[in-house]
Amino acid sequence: MNLKQLSLPELEAVLSPLGASPTVVRKVFAAVFAHGARSVDEVASAPQVPRRVGDYLKAHAELPSLQVVERRKADDGFVKYLFDSPLGGRVEAVRIPIFDEKYVICVSSQVGCALACDFCMTGKLGFKRNLQTWEILDQVLQVRAEADRPVRGVVFMGMGEPLLNYKETLRAADVLRNPSGFSIAGDAITFSTAGHVPAIRRYTREGHPYRLAFSVTSAIPEKRAQVLPIEKTHPLPELIEAIREYSTVRRERAMIAYVAISGFNLGREDAEALKAAFEGIPIKVDLIDVTDPTGKYLPPTPEELSAFRDHLQILKSPVARRYSGGKEIGAACGTLAATQYGGTVVPGPAREPSLSGT
Ligand code: SF4
Repeated sequence: MNLKQLSLPELEAVLSPLGASPTVVRKVFAAVFAHGARSVDEVASAPQVPRRVGDYLKAHAELPSLQVVERRKADDGFVKYLFDSPLGGRVEAVRIPIFDEKYVICVSSQVGCALACDFCMTGKLGFKRNLQTWEILDQVLQVRAEADRPVRGVVFMGMGEPLLNYKETLRAADVLRNPSGFSIAGDAITFSTAGHVPAIRRYTREGHPYRLAFSVTSAIPEKRAQVLPIEKTHPLPELIEAIREYSTVRRERAMIAYVAISGFNLGREDAEALKAAFEGIPIKVDLIDVTDPTGKYLPPTPEELSAFRDHLQILKSPVARRYSGGKEIGAACGTLAATQYGGTVVPGPAREPSLSGT
């Protein structure tokens, strides 16, 4: 029984036949996730856990971990963690500093990715497998354990398309949000999707409290298809209808991620296409500079970006530039590929108990 894989109701189903009260079940759950116990013995000896329950856990439970292969810190404070999973494959997570106050963690949901977005290094790896719930949660557990500031948000924008690992990512998000789990606000948990329409529709229908961010990148279908092959399976009109539904049901602006590529999608016609596509749908646009280590796609010049922002005023929607940090360590959006280069290798807590002051 893997304690990191169980939701609170599942844990309750296991422990209540032993006479564990709902409070005891919550204590066990909190020992694993809120307090980040390192061993089953630590969970079994948590305060208020009766001996009978503790003995059962020692006999039947396990607490597996990903192995941290390396931590690399960039000049802008982003730290990339490279993990090896005992189930096979390597994934990465990124610790993102927010105003010297808190961290947001960007996690992976799959080993590799099937969607093959042309500017993305993860896409070039191809799809290997879905991560299990515990492998997603362990990325957060391990990064949080070394963090010198609180973790207030988790974004599923690392390796993989989270909506193609629907069940496990939702299970992980439920533990992240649980007050006895990680206690992260639902609206501080975001799934980024390249536009898998059936999964978006299902997500909207089911009414989850987390946010979706939609990678659009061009509202001109031919251009979008050049960089996002998913356009051929789930074309823009379908995606836009799914976004409309999401925004209407939730009564919120849909977050549109727009990867800004020099000389490609930053003209007046691109802004006009966005306006036409999203007419009547409340949106906010996040502009993200492309980071493509192959050099095929270049980030916009300041002049290009500024001109595009001017063009985007016709949307009458909020437009923000999202900083995609950690470029020199391969931590920026689209560059996660289980690589080891750049930045400063940060020693683990075995040699240094905390990352404070590094
Ligand atoms: S951008 Fe996201 S969906 Fe596209 S290939 Fe990369 S990981 Fe997959």
